[in-house]
Order: sequence, then C-alpha cells, then structure tokens
Amino acid sequence: MTHQLRVPGPTPVPRRVQEAMNVPMINHRGPAFRNLIQECKAGLQWAFQTRNEVLIFPSSGTGGLEAAVQNLVNPGERTLFVSVGAFGDRFASAGEAYGADVIKLDYPWGHGAMAQDVAQILDDNPEIQVVFVTHNETSTGVCNDIAAIAAEVKQRGRLIAVDAVSSLSSIDLPVDTLQLDVVVSGSQKGWMLPPGCSFVSVSQPAFERQGVSGAPRFYFDFAKERDYEARGETFTTPAVSIMFGLRESLRMMREEGLQRIFQRHRDIARGIRAAVQALELELFADPRFYSDTVTAVKAPRDDTELNKQLIATLRDELELELAGGQAHLKGHVFRIGHLGDINRQDGREMVERLEQALIRVGYIDGPVGAARAYEEAVGAELAAVTPASQGRAPVP
Ligand SMILES: *Cc1c(COP(=O)(O)O)cnc(C)c1O
Repeated sequence: MTHQLRVPGPTPVPRRVQEAMNVPMINHRGPAFRNLIQECKAGLQWAFQTRNEVLIFPSSGTGGLEAAVQNLVNPGERTLFVSVGAFGDRFASAGEAYGADVIKLDYPWGHGAMAQDVAQILDDNPEIQVVFVTHNETSTGVCNDIAAIAAEVKQRGRLIAVDAVSSLSSIDLPVDTLQLDVVVSGSQKGWMLPPGCSFVSVSQPAFERQGVSGAPRFYFDFAKERDYEARGETFTTPAVSIMFGLRESLRMMREEGLQRIFQRHRDIARGIRAAVQALELELFADPRFYSDTVTAVKAPRDDTELNKQLIATLRDELELELAGGQAHLKGHVFRIGHLGDINRQDGREMVERLEQALIRVGYIDGPVGAARAYEEAVGAELAAVTPASQGRAPVP
C-alpha cells in the first residue's frame, strides 16, 4: 500500500520535483539564478493567467497575506475583509495588526460569500478602497465565487486582494480576466512543492496604491521586490531549492495543460463527494460552494471521539493521512485534501481506505460501494491519462 498524504497542505511532492531540487546550491546573485527566476516568473504568470508581475517571497502563505495587507492597507483607513472561515479570519486579523479600520463581513462557516453583500457594504462605505477575500476556504471546503465578487468590486473602482493559497494552480482563477489586483498563493498547496515560497501577483493599480500609501513594511515591499526581480535577483536570499522544484513543477503543469489540471481536480472532487455520501457521511459545505481542492466532511454521528479514531485508523493502519477540523470545527469535521499531485486512481484508493476505516471504527457494518460511487461520479475520465505524477518516490 502506498502512503497517501492528503491533508490540505503540505501536499505530496512528485519524484521529478524532488530530484530537480536535489542539486548543488548556486549563487543567488549570478547568471544561473537569473535563468532560474526568469523561468519561474514566466511559468507563474502562465499559471496565474496574468501579465501582472508575480513576486516570489521566501515565506509561507501567511507571509503572502501579510504582504498584501502591508502594501495595500493604510492605518486607520476603513477596509473590508470578507471571511467564510479560519483563513478569512486570519486575513482580517492581519488587517487589524496593521491598524486598518476593519469592517468584517462574516458568514457562518460552511457558507460562501455573497457578491451582493459586498456590493452593499461598498455602497454604504464609499471610503473603502480595498476588499480582501478568500477564494478557497481550506477550513470549511468552501470555494467563493470570486468572479461575481470581483465584478462588484471593480465596477465600483476599488481594489481586490484574494487569498488563493489553496486554489491557484488547481482551480481556475483567471487573474487578468477578473481584474484581480493582488493574488496570493503558497508553494505547499496545489503547486506540488514543499513549503517555503509564497507567490503574489500585483496589478498596476496595486503598485500605484502601495507607492503612495500602505502600512510600515520592509521585508515584503512589492516595489522593492519587483525592482530586484527585474534584474534577475531577489531582495533577500531566496528559497533557491524550492525554486528549482518550482521550475520542474511548472514544466509538469505545462505538459498537462491548465484546463486539464482544473478538470482533473473537478473530477476527483466530484468523485470524493459522491463516495462520502455513499458512505452515509455528510458534506460540511453548502452545495453551491463545494471546493474542488478540499472536502470537509462532518464527523460521523458528530462524535468527536469517533472522528479522532477514524483519522488515527486511516493514518496508522491504512496509510492515508487526512486532517481534522480547525478552530471551533475541531472534532466536528475531518478534511480531505485533493490538490496538486493527485490522479483519479489516487482518489478511488482514498475512498476505499475511508470505507475500510469506517468499518474498522464500527460506523458502517460492511462495504457500501464507495469505490463504485466514486467511479460513477468521475465517469469515463477515470481511465483517461492521468497525471500528476505516476511514479512516486518512497515516503520515509
Ligand atoms: C494554507 C493556507 C494559507 C497559508 O498557510 P501557511 O501555513 O502560512 O502556508 C492561507 N490561506 C489558505 C486558504 C490556506 O489554505
């Protein structure tokens, strides 16, 4: 049985990417690094579907969120943060930390954000210049309709900053078509990389705003980083090894093609949801907002102990590592990460193991056809060519 790491980040790193990182270190102020960063930046623009600058910071995803806040928020200025879960709350907390007068639009966890609510707040508060919102809320398995929200924001001439840490590269988010000003992603989610880099796209209006305003900042200065990267360098020492990996993972992604990557994630997510329901479990998210990268499932019988036992059985006996709940959902949900290096067969194996575990903890008496439900939902695509990676390195 192969080990499957299926928490919503970090995600598995394919053998090709591991090997691409296993190379001697280079000088980060020299021609070899210049070539590396140029290829990485071009690939990131391709994946972000943008002509905007995409900056590469050595930080986790939260660093990218903090960068967005520092460069766009003015202390004391009224700013809208839209939250549908733990990561939306984190974004808003960063806004408070940098002194914004935060208006928080909150939804019950499991729900998605409504574009008309955002529009209403912007109409009531003409002084709001920037809206911060999560695309894919990893704590609840909810994917917001950024196209609808961005349309309202842009129609009113405001800026929009999006946390796409757990969606970009896996779920379609065409940055230029939607006119998204700042978009943040993180290496250890859909990018098939270890933790260590955040990727931040910055529009021209966002650069203009940060030139005249913004909170105190030093490490994460958009304009400073842009100027360094234009010369093939970075302000500080970059995460060189992650960038060797990024170059390779971007090559893998180009071989597969963006639309096929999105389709693979949609298919697997649909299959997993069908299997979960066949297993007599309930999905946590509002069906209008199901995420294609992370599925949150209500704990069996809403029994915290049983939930814990299920996760432990999967990990210790069935080589499948899933995540528990965050904040007040701790014990009340478990979460399945299905992003990055995952193919359609992996998804079927996962639901088979989940079924086994539910039998072992006594939630169901015997097999109920999880794999069949998965296959039916995924359809003919199951047999199709199915990157990401086929061969996987043994897990230590
Ligand atoms: C993982 C994640 C982050 C950032 O997490 P880090 O641990 O700082 O990398 C931010 N937002 C969302 C939606 C995430 O899934």
